[in-house]
Amino acid sequence: MEWDKSASLLLEKVPPFVQKTVREKVETLARERGKTHVTEEEVIAARESFMGKQQNATSQTAIAHKPIDNKKLSILKKYSKYFDKDGNPVLYQIKTCRGAEAHCPFLIINSNTLADSIKKRMEDLEFTEKLMDKTEGQILPHHTMKLAVAGCPNSCSMPQIKDFGVHAIEPVCVDSESKCIECMKCVETCREEAITIKDAQVSINMEKCVHCGLCAKVCPSGSIRAEEKKYRVMIGGKVGRHPKFAIEILPQSDESTTLKALEVCVDMILSGKTGQRFRTLIEQQGVEEIKKRI
Ligand code: SF4
Ligand code: SF4
Ligand code: SF4
Repeated sequence: MEWDKSASLLLEKVPPFVQKTVREKVETLARERGKTHVTEEEVIAARESFMGKQQNATSQTAIAHKPIDNKKLSILKKYSKYFDKDGNPVLYQIKTCRGAEAHCPFLIINSNTLADSIKKRMEDLEFTEKLMDKTEGQILPHHTMKLAVAGCPNSCSMPQIKDFGVHAIEPVCVDSESKCIECMKCVETCREEAITIKDAQVSINMEKCVHCGLCAKVCPSGSIRAEEKKYRVMIGGKVGRHPKFAIEILPQSDESTTLKALEVCVDMILSGKTGQRFRTLIEQQGVEEIKKRI
């Protein structure tokens, strides 16, 4: 199917590894609309349809145990992202990467899986209700909690700039029982230049390794082996006037410990003064103290 120039320019802005999938979705939509060529209109419609689905899958459902104080929400009402499809407020946003949908070759764990568990825990903790209760006056966008999950260390959903950010990892190790055949595939694959092969001896520099798991996938001899998939958890990232990257609190965590870390962070936010930034709370309490609570 032909694409006009403006539609093609929009497609070029999509990351290369998902362009094929996006092209197919847009062309399907154009055909459903009886079009013989793709215009900007179909690209935008496909994007909106996709974003709507993603938001429903990863964002939230507010629990409305109490009547809602609408006066507190008058500023947030300008933005649909702070409300679920039934119009209930949801005072947190969970961003996920699109690795699973796009069949991303780097995907370690589908980010929607952990995002669903986080959403459920946020509902169980009644975060939205409690934040509404404790906030005096208007609730502003920066009072809401920002979370992100990514399916691999490439971190497309930007967990490093969120209050609570997670990406999947696949740690690797050298299996000395298997004989390296010196094919050098691992060395060519590793973008971090973390692997050295000398006289069929494999060495991985763990200071450089980001646990993407790719070397284990290409190793034909099993000399480099993937271990259990885990999550790396970071907290306190922020943008704005004084941007800061999130601080790692759990380098290799399972889902249960990750959710426990979430509970600790939620408790800190709900116990803090209205409007106090989460990063400031972290710096006041100290990361080591926070780790002890997990
Ligand atoms: S974070 Fe990783 S898995 Fe997710 S879309 Fe980006 S590259 Fe793919
Ligand atoms: S896991 Fe990734 S970063 Fe680590 S050594 Fe293998 S390819 Fe390199
Ligand atoms: S890919 Fe495996 S067999 Fe090939 S050089 Fe690396 S460790 Fe050795």
